Amino acid sequence: SNATIYGLLADTAKAYPDRPAVVFREQGIRWTWAQFLQEVDDLGAGLAGLGLAKGDRVGIWSPNRVEWLVTQFATARMGLILVNINPAYRLSELEYALKVSGCRAIVSAERLKTSMYLEMLQKVRPGLPALEFVIRMGSDQTPGMLNYADVLQRGRGEPVPFADCLAHDAINIQFTSGTTGNPKGATLTHHNVVNNGRFIAMAMDFDEKDSLCIPVPLYHCFGMVLAVLASVSTGAAMVFPGEVFDPAAALAAVADERCTALHGVPTMFIAELAHPRFAEFDLTSLRTGIMAGSPCPIETMKQVVSRMHMREVTIAYGMTETSPVSFQSSTSDPLDRRTTTVGRVQPHLECKVIDLDGNIVPVGEKGELCTRGYSVMTGYWGDEERTRQAVVDGWMHTGDLATIDEEGYCNIVGRVKDMLIRGGENVYPREIEEFLFRHPKVQSVQVFGVPDEKYGEEVCAWIVLKPGEACVEDEIKDFCRDQIAHYKVPRYVRFVDELPMTVTGKAQKFVMRDQMIEELK
Ligand code: ATP
Ligand code: MG
Repeated sequence: SNATIYGLLADTAKAYPDRPAVVFREQGIRWTWAQFLQEVDDLGAGLAGLGLAKGDRVGIWSPNRVEWLVTQFATARMGLILVNINPAYRLSELEYALKVSGCRAIVSAERLKTSMYLEMLQKVRPGLPALEFVIRMGSDQTPGMLNYADVLQRGRGEPVPFADCLAHDAINIQFTSGTTGNPKGATLTHHNVVNNGRFIAMAMDFDEKDSLCIPVPLYHCFGMVLAVLASVSTGAAMVFPGEVFDPAAALAAVADERCTALHGVPTMFIAELAHPRFAEFDLTSLRTGIMAGSPCPIETMKQVVSRMHMREVTIAYGMTETSPVSFQSSTSDPLDRRTTTVGRVQPHLECKVIDLDGNIVPVGEKGELCTRGYSVMTGYWGDEERTRQAVVDGWMHTGDLATIDEEGYCNIVGRVKDMLIRGGENVYPREIEEFLFRHPKVQSVQVFGVPDEKYGEEVCAWIVLKPGEACVEDEIKDFCRDQIAHYKVPRYVRFVDELPMTVTGKAQKFVMRDQMIEELK
């Protein structure tokens, strides 16, 4: 029965009905697997009661709340296609996402901080004739909207026949992070994500005694698959520290709940390690977890092992379009491989590294990484043109530069588009970022290219200093001199309080580049 994500949950609830399944600390929720399954069944029945039927799209717009998780599985049970709406969206993006996906219903939080979700929904609704139901969270009632608790209540105890879901049915339209521009909606099937979740769990040696702290957003595949499906396929408990990422809340959740695993993008681990109260939290229960999403600085990996006790930490690499993980180190890999590479290609996936003409490059050389196999999306929803460009003969062209060594370990060098050419020399920002990370005052750093009349492009670094530190441009340049080739030394260094980020904690270089270009005019 577990070829669908609902099947995974049903099997786990049968195997471990009374073990802890879900903890939402901010909402005060603690459920066993049996309770979780019951909620999912009730919401599924409630949604079916509205007349929603197989193949209908249902949006979800919310930070990390339990309703998100229940909706994920309730829609899957009924054969509905969940559309993940980025919590950072505003009017025009929201309208666009709901329009292209043709959502018939949306489950929405009231708001996120000052961002009033329900008001925005009211505004875009007239332009969205397909959108019949807005199901709001929270205890209030809004005219013209349904209340989540009421829909759930109506489904309580109602027997509902299963929608006949097949493994290759679409389950999800997942929007990419928007790190390089406009997010794209990748269409994923049960088959894609169920298998991905299982392989991820295997690489971490997960079982029902584990308990995973999840500070990454649910809307993104990192939350939905690497966290939720890895847990649901093994019975490991899920602990959500809060609606949005907060380093102290994540550390407190690990300490209080004795979590054995912690996930995060590099910026999250960096913020946790740099937190002034870091030493107050007992993290000795930690064993493993995944760092992923953007280049994982080796220095950060080392500290995660030595100061956070995550001796079996793994790095994963992937993209929304591949459900998402295609490379992951596993707990059995030697520590140095786990901290410096993204591991080896997942079982049942093929990979190749190609040059600009599409030829496979010699072992160890840089090129564009391509992957093929069970995890590749069926396409970008409603966008055949972009799908054709991204997936060729089943090969997903990742847009990332990588090297793969003789033993199959992969290094991500950076994005193809981020590489810059300065005076004829190829410059890989990632390499300079790794170097600058070693500077004792640097907390985080992003390197990118800006246009330059003389050299074509110039290297620019944006740096966030550790709390209480001060630094000048020359200090950074001096640090680089005689250590890295002259053409890699940043011509421009800027110290900033924070870096422009996506909700998933990824630095948006295009935003920084645009700002620098303005400044240099
Ligand atoms: P968009 O496609 O909208 O610009 P995005 O590519 O960041 O955004 P995601 O699908 O969330 O959207 O992220 C996939 C990308 O993240 C990969 O293509 C890669 O560039 C980067 N990435 C993921 N994991 C790693 C990793 N372990 N090391 C380096 N880069 C990674
Ligand atoms: Mg991408």
